[in-house]
Amino acid sequence: MSVLIYIENTDGQLKKSAFEVATYGKDIASQLGTEAIAISIGDIATEELSKLGAYGISKVLHITNSDLSTFVNQAYASIITAAAKQENASVVVLSNTFSGKGLAPRIATKLEAGLVVGATSAPTVSGASFEIKKSAFSNKAIATVVFDSPLKVISINPNSYPAKNTGGSASIENFTAPIGSNDFSTLVKDIIRATDKVSLPEAEIVVSAGRGMKGPENWTMIEELAEVLGAATACSKPVSDAGWRPHSEHVGQTGIVVSPNLYIAIGISGAIQHLAGVSSSKTIVVINKDPEAPFFKVADYGIVGDAFTIVPKLIEALKAYKG
Ligand code: FAD
Repeated sequence: MSVLIYIENTDGQLKKSAFEVATYGKDIASQLGTEAIAISIGDIATEELSKLGAYGISKVLHITNSDLSTFVNQAYASIITAAAKQENASVVVLSNTFSGKGLAPRIATKLEAGLVVGATSAPTVSGASFEIKKSAFSNKAIATVVFDSPLKVISINPNSYPAKNTGGSASIENFTAPIGSNDFSTLVKDIIRATDKVSLPEAEIVVSAGRGMKGPENWTMIEELAEVLGAATACSKPVSDAGWRPHSEHVGQTGIVVSPNLYIAIGISGAIQHLAGVSSSKTIVVINKDPEAPFFKVADYGIVGDAFTIVPKLIEALKAYKG
């Protein structure tokens, strides 16, 4: 028996969520008294994969070829399923990222396993009972799910489980999987990176702005604040609908769900549909000129005032603080 963990990389570098999911899988393996094994797909150096040993991974399976250098949902799902079978995994763990969201249901179907998407904490294992908490109803509730299947697939939300470096080393093994043309009915030919900025779902700090900014020309100060803080930028839905910002920045019920350590909301009213995507942020700071704005009800810190006065002062103060 083992726990198999799918590890993601970007351009050959392990993603931040890779260390979180490794720690998460290792903690499950410890509860089950078994081994945590990782699978990595695509071009990545052995030295980079070795870093996973410090996060409790004992062995990393690695598979790469030219067709696998970009993410292909079907093929990746077949490979992870084959690895789970080879390693006799009772639990497969993924990060609930864009690719994890596509992979988890496919793998669960292939393995005829139970599936929990968007876990928020480690499961409680006691004898045959395997219980896990997950976010539900757009983060408005936490559901407790009891697995009733011998095989389990779990995806964990990025930023919800801290990575723990406990030392240790991992062996790296080449892996081959029986994938064929059926696994490549769609093929990603090329990926053109639109931005080098911090990825929104994984960002530890998010600077987000809404219709209160009046127009796209006023985002210069939002981007500047984000840059000073090393943050990702986000926006409310009407802002992306109006074309002020790209849809990839839209957070909320119909957009991306984020749970950063710090979420700064500027000129956003705090409608329920917006809060659905941001309420699991660890600390929320709201800047709004309306003291009755609903966002203040969920804020840890609130500043009532005009964003056009406050944000430049904040940037100035942060720059002075950083020297
Ligand atoms: P507004 O509601 O117009 O609020 C602007 C805020 O800026 C106000 O609070 C105002 O006081 C403040 N402000 C104005 N000027 C200043 C200033 N100078 N300084 C400081 N503050 C200022 N919305 C999302 O964001 N994400 C979603 O995923 C989403 N999904 C939806 C799904 C459905 C089915 C529906 C019906 C709606 C959805 N919405 C979503 C829309 C949502 O209901 C709100 O309309 C939207 O979030 C409001 O965006 P806003 O706060 O930017 O704009």
